[in-house]
Amino acid sequence: MNQKCPVCSGELRKDIIKEDIWIDGKLLVIDNLTAKVCVHCGESIVDYNTMQKIENLIDKFKHNMIRATEFIAYEIDATAPVSA
Ligand SMILES: [Zn+2]
Repeated sequence: MNQKCPVCSGELRKDIIKEDIWIDGKLLVIDNLTAKVCVHCGESIVDYNTMQKIENLIDKFKHNMIRATEFIAYEIDATAPVSA
């Protein structure tokens, strides 16, 4: 399991990342994702399991069924004006 970075062949380290995904004009943020991050160029790679979980969350998000489970997933209303 000594995977190399697909971009620069750099060393990958296990890390916790945050994914920002735009869906139908809304921003879904999934925090606390385990991924491998290249120490060289910063490219992040999620494994198949994590990918499945992300897809599951996206599906729930589209159906307004999002629930925080092991991830800190939340929605930012990008259309709302920023107020103090
Ligand atoms: Zn890299």
